[in-house]
Amino acid sequence: MSQVVVIGAGAVGACCALALLADGHDVTVVEPGMAGGEQAASFGNGGWLGTASVVPMSLPGLWKRLPGYLLDPDGPLVIRTTSLLGLAPWLWRFVAAGHRIERVEGTARALAALLHDAPARHEALARAAGLGHLIVQAGLTYVYPSRSAFQAEALAWRLRADQNVAWRELDHDALQRHTPGLASSYRFGIEVASGGHCRDPGAYVAGLVAHACARGARLFTTRATGFALERGRLKAVRTELGDLPADAVVISAGIDSAPLAHAVGSVIPLESERGYHVVLPAAGIEIKTPLMPSDGKMAVTLTTAGLRISGQVELASRHAPADWRRADVLLRHARRMFPNAEWPDSSATLPRWLGHRPSTPDGLPVLAASASCPQVFCAFGHGHVGLAAAPASAELIADLVDGRPPRIDLSPYRASRFG
Ligand SMILES: Cc1cc2nc3c(=O)[nH]c(=O)nc-3n(C[C@H](O)[C@H](O)[C@H](O)COP(=O)(O)OP(=O)(O)OC[C@H]3O[C@@H](n4cnc5c(N)ncnc54)[C@H](O)[C@@H]3O)c2cc1C
Repeated sequence: MSQVVVIGAGAVGACCALALLADGHDVTVVEPGMAGGEQAASFGNGGWLGTASVVPMSLPGLWKRLPGYLLDPDGPLVIRTTSLLGLAPWLWRFVAAGHRIERVEGTARALAALLHDAPARHEALARAAGLGHLIVQAGLTYVYPSRSAFQAEALAWRLRADQNVAWRELDHDALQRHTPGLASSYRFGIEVASGGHCRDPGAYVAGLVAHACARGARLFTTRATGFALERGRLKAVRTELGDLPADAVVISAGIDSAPLAHAVGSVIPLESERGYHVVLPAAGIEIKTPLMPSDGKMAVTLTTAGLRISGQVELASRHAPADWRRADVLLRHARRMFPNAEWPDSSATLPRWLGHRPSTPDGLPVLAASASCPQVFCAFGHGHVGLAAAPASAELIADLVDGRPPRIDLSPYRASRFG
């Protein structure tokens, strides 16, 4: 048994803590906020356990569309011009990651390895933690104005088919039966039965951390600031409240992970793909599965608090103030989807949230030992899929901590790929 410190209590840290406990380690979780609290991306995400979420954001030809993104304030991706200079090196790598189709296929393969059984993994974790009511495996549905709009995304669906994602088509009538109240302008749907969702990601993560504590983990409410090393070997994690002795450390601090990794020699380009949510009363709206409309590219998910509309990618400095017009855009799309619902015109009176997807340019996390200290492991950079991919990532990190041979090829997630 060794002493392992997990930095960060988001979805990834929570799952790492549980996987390390299962291996018999003495686990301490360091977290300055609430486990799964509002500061964490894991709090406000769309809750999708998306087996089909294997398509990276950067695809061939993206560079041609970037100027349009800069100009369209209602589009699903916006770039704040004031942040452009600072973001340029990341953006360059982001566009390059999608330039060649072979590389995109490799990314889809590496994402599928973390996602293909995500709902079953979450169900098992939730059941063990007494949180079974928060995980639902009822499928996920993508909705389109027409079959030709679906066909326009042929590459994305080809990448999914290559990863054995199966789906069923819904024509207009089937879609109306599936989701009564959905605007009739949506005439075509795709249902992915293997997908699942979480009904309250923040409460789920908090519950997983509480479960870890009930099984012997300690939760230390402070911020990790660095590492104490002796001749290259880890001695302790430095925190604002003093040193915590450690034999191994997992960096799972979401968007704040890069400076910690840098302190142990791994330079990872990590930027926030900022996203928003707004919560609407679900009154009168029946959705059997979460929905994603092709025009809004947002997740519409029934949560314990109502209908959570989450999405938007806003590339801007991590510290720039929230632009709540992004939440209003989500609301406008939701009103278009459900024209008969009585919802306010502005998000100002509704629960709304801004969060930071911790994103690498290629859309893959870093799951690897750091460059200069083999006892410090990186588990961050999950971008759009960190909730879904957390359990599989945690299992791989637990293997690395114990020095077990990797059960899948870990090279796509290596820290050195940005060198
Ligand atoms: C709008 C939106 C929608 C999304 N939808 C989905 C979805 O439907 N499905 C999906 O799978 N993913 C989704 N995501 C992505 C997902 O939320 C993230 O990938 C995931 O939450 C990242 O988890 P994490 O544990 O790495 O980071 P976080 O959840 O951000 O947790 C990191 C934790 O580390 C703590 N921390 C930071 N610095 C330190 C430090 N120095 N010391 C100690 N602790 C520290 C923070 O306080 C925080 O609690 C979405 C994201 C957004 C923004």
